[in-house]
Amino acid sequence: MTVAPTDLRIPPDLLPVDGRFGCGPAKIRPEAVEALTRNRLLGTSHRQAPVRDLVGRVKTGLATLFRVPDDWEIVLGNGGSTTFWDVAVCSLIERRSSHASFGEFSAKFAAAAARAPHLDEPAVVSVAAGTTVLPEPLPDADVYAWAHNETSTGALAPVQRIHGADDRALVVVDGTSAAGGVDLDVTATDVYYFAPQKSLGSEGGLWIALCSPAAVERIERIAATDRWIPESLSLGLALQNSRQNQTLNTPAIATLVLLENQLDWLNGLGGLAAAGRRSADSATRLYGWAERNPWATPFVGRPEERSPVVGTIDFAGVEAPQLAAALRANGVVDTEPYRKLGRNQLRIGMFPTVEPDDVSALCRCLDWLLERLGGPAA
Ligand SMILES: *Cc1c(COP(=O)(O)O)cnc(C)c1O
Repeated sequence: MTVAPTDLRIPPDLLPVDGRFGCGPAKIRPEAVEALTRNRLLGTSHRQAPVRDLVGRVKTGLATLFRVPDDWEIVLGNGGSTTFWDVAVCSLIERRSSHASFGEFSAKFAAAAARAPHLDEPAVVSVAAGTTVLPEPLPDADVYAWAHNETSTGALAPVQRIHGADDRALVVVDGTSAAGGVDLDVTATDVYYFAPQKSLGSEGGLWIALCSPAAVERIERIAATDRWIPESLSLGLALQNSRQNQTLNTPAIATLVLLENQLDWLNGLGGLAAAGRRSADSATRLYGWAERNPWATPFVGRPEERSPVVGTIDFAGVEAPQLAAALRANGVVDTEPYRKLGRNQLRIGMFPTVEPDDVSALCRCLDWLLERLGGPAA
């Protein structure tokens, strides 16, 4: 008689202390959630000083974490990174963008630009899932766009200037999922944008853009033209509001409180470099385990492209959905792969919030499950 995967009971001493391994929303530190229960700002006006001061502290915390130069601006608005693609289409791309596409998220920004009636057809270079590429330099491209960490595949791309691009072109990098867990030189970009529900250990619904002086100049120039830009997609308006520590419309104050707490924690750890080392430690444990395990292989072939924050592991000789279901039945959740990738895979969030020891525990749980669910190893 065979046991259903969801009836398997993993011995408690093998289980991680915290079983949240999602790639967004992702684990939120219990200390941050406690800070919410004590907070007196929830349910008060975002137009009054106390919440505006909170926004100001979040901006300061971000400036410290990302070592943002003094002449840059930190802009925020509602809608998350998906909304930011439409914001960028309306308020950042002048005529034509050049994109690199290597997964769902980088592809979506390119698709948004392709649909915009006021822009020329974007250039898009695509490569197979699990690898990365940089956008092609083109004489008429005024925005270069790609994702730092392609969360759908677990591939990490470089953040750098595009060799051969026009000096006036802007580098616009999607940092969602990487931001806060992977060190970078933000001055290699003009706009580094992200949402805080991944490495930044908060909730979704907010977008944040770190903007260089060149980006600010572009935003203000486009805002002054007669291009029709819906107010909610106007970076010009968002910039004006952010300068007043406000957002165009009501933000979720809980998201800001959680974000402030996480920024304090990350900066206290030693900033982005220390946060990056924590995720890299987790990643070494996961990929090392997968390389030694006969059923498992890291999906991203080139070690230097393997994300330290989103680990994707292919399985052979066992059905990965059964592993995910068995883990879930034991309180270890969100190890399922990105839905549209369609691989026999698990995807593990290893954001700085996740304890490296919990990643080791997860590997031990997988060993235990593979002994019971795995067929002959490939
Ligand atoms: C999660 C994610 C997004 C989408 O973020 P939302 O806030 O849900 O819109 C975009 N890009 C990347 C790289 C992501 O990981």
